[in-house]
Amino acid sequence: MSDTSNPQVLPTRKPGHLLERFSEADLPTPRGVFHLVVFREKKNGREHVAMVRGDVSGLEGVPVRVHSECLTSEVFGSLKCDCRQQLDRALDFVSQQERGIVLYLRQEGRGIGLGNKIKAYALQQKGADTYDANRMLGFADDLRTYDVAAEMLRALGVRSVDLITNNPLKIAGLVEEGIPVRRRIPSRTEHNPHNVDYLRTKRERTGHLIELFPEEDTEASVG
Ligand SMILES: [Zn+2]
Repeated sequence: MSDTSNPQVLPTRKPGHLLERFSEADLPTPRGVFHLVVFREKKNGREHVAMVRGDVSGLEGVPVRVHSECLTSEVFGSLKCDCRQQLDRALDFVSQQERGIVLYLRQEGRGIGLGNKIKAYALQQKGADTYDANRMLGFADDLRTYDVAAEMLRALGVRSVDLITNNPLKIAGLVEEGIPVRRRIPSRTEHNPHNVDYLRTKRERTGHLIELFPEEDTEASVG
């Protein structure tokens, strides 16, 4: 897969097209120091974050999580989804490995925005599942695109990634945008009475590879 005869060639499709590498600094956290890089979308000023641990530039198989913002879960502890757990586990994993990147993309509610996400929750209270609710509001299943994530990874000099995800569409999305995915690292998730239906729906409707119940640990699994 890698071209050892020409190791300096980085994936460079659409370089610097969407984003400006705006600012960066080290950030101390309970998991140790991360290098935080802020990218700004040129067309709308939206800011996305790369939490970088260790050396990643010019390397193959960098552990990467592409994570979409979820205010309700990450700030307020909502039990309706597993976003906070996924984020925590990804940060744990790259800290343990002393190498990796968590991309934090500001696209709340699969890209529909916070207000619309809460409208969808209201419809779910009346019995719609998460995908039906989005459709009733006129949104496609998943508005996330991976061009921003791919450009961030290119800017950080990543040659290929080991993607921390249960979502086959994420792998396809990154590959489509020119980022080689060497393998998938499963992201373990724990269910509770509030999110088990959501997780099941996600698995059944979108092909997420979610392990809902405890299974044997593999050495690379997160959590
Ligand atoms: Zn969430």
